Amino acid sequence: MTAYPFDAPESAALMKRAEQVIPGGVNSPVRAFRSVGGTPRFIVSAKGPWLVDADGRRYVDLVASWGPMILGHAHPAVEEAVREAAGKGFSFGMPSENEVALAEEIVARVAPVDQVRLVSSGTEATMSAIRLARGFTGRTLVVKFAGCYHGHVDSLLASAGSGVATLALPDSAGVPADSAAETIVVPYNDVAAVEAAFAERGDQIAALITEAAAGNMGVIPPEPGFTEALRRITREHGALFISDEVMTGFRCSPAGWYGLEGPYADGAPDLFTFGKVMGGGFPAAAFGGRADIMALLAPTGPVYQAGTLSGNPVATAAGLATLRGCTPEVYDRLGVVSRTIADAAAEALTAASVPHTVQWAGSMFSVFFREGPVRSYDDAKAQDTAAFGAFFHAMLAAGVHLPPSAFEAWFVGASHDDEAVGRVVEALPGAARAAATA
Ligand code: PMP
Repeated sequence: MTAYPFDAPESAALMKRAEQVIPGGVNSPVRAFRSVGGTPRFIVSAKGPWLVDADGRRYVDLVASWGPMILGHAHPAVEEAVREAAGKGFSFGMPSENEVALAEEIVARVAPVDQVRLVSSGTEATMSAIRLARGFTGRTLVVKFAGCYHGHVDSLLASAGSGVATLALPDSAGVPADSAAETIVVPYNDVAAVEAAFAERGDQIAALITEAAAGNMGVIPPEPGFTEALRRITREHGALFISDEVMTGFRCSPAGWYGLEGPYADGAPDLFTFGKVMGGGFPAAAFGGRADIMALLAPTGPVYQAGTLSGNPVATAAGLATLRGCTPEVYDRLGVVSRTIADAAAEALTAASVPHTVQWAGSMFSVFFREGPVRSYDDAKAQDTAAFGAFFHAMLAAGVHLPPSAFEAWFVGASHDDEAVGRVVEALPGAARAAATA
């Protein structure tokens, strides 16, 4: 294909309109292209691996709505489930069977999860898991890792990844000092730092939360033994261990990262959080874990948590159809597509002499624009974001939409067929040369 022009007049006009009525023109910051510059593409439709923007251009989608679209856009089985559910009503505010079926599906997949409570976003899931951990332990402090993102929960925004990293914000304004002081931030993959934090304040720590494998500072898997060490240390100090699988859940394997790395000799995390894939592109997320901890939630226990749209019948239908569609063949295809694209990216960047490294968590990967290994947020920050920006725009002009940030995973779906993968592979050498001259 010939390259698309760098300007996108219809998207630019929509962005102008958007900026009048929506801060920064977007409803989630990374969409704004702040770190890469240029005009975000307004999407009018999506099918399989393809996006169509307001200027009528077609892109291979390597964002997948930041993870959920594991089967590709508008997958026929999911679309049918959504139509059928919507035909029976949009929201009841009363129990419905799909909620039970989705909860059963999650519990059946992730062995240490006895029960789940459904919510509408990953942020709600982690926020609620933290409250539950505090209610269970009667303690306040939370330990998190620099560069891990757990949604925009006050106490979890300290040194957060994702958009906070992309915009180079150390922290968020508007978080009360008291909330920030409740969080202890330690470097990822650093057992000694975790030991030291617990040695100092272990009897006040309610929970340690970690991304099961980090994906919000680029992909940084836990080093061998790291997760086990977190389990051991939290148990020794009577704190709960929360594994955030919002991104990795049902993507890295049918049982998420736990399915790849677990079961652990020292026992499983106490609580898990899920989102993205389990909602199939609709607002559904969950937190869950040990039955004795979950029993503390209202109405059975004193920890309050609720939601008008929680367990929404259309969202749960989409999530259920998506999880049921995640067959072994789907995971095989994700592996093949990821490997083909990552290998081609590495080859192109090597040929153009651009320093880079590709890192993996199962079939989830990202490309860092620096030499590896990348073990921590400090390592991830030391990459050449200008080179990434040039690379990103060259890919966009060649009809491939990457995440507009050097700190994000590249997400593929099982619907990425040979045509879509071929377009990515074809685009990479030119983009690598653009990165070389940035
Ligand atoms: N936890 C992790 C690991 C995530 O990747 C995200 C979103 N990227 C969240 C929590 C927050 O989820 P949401 O955006 O649905 O609130």
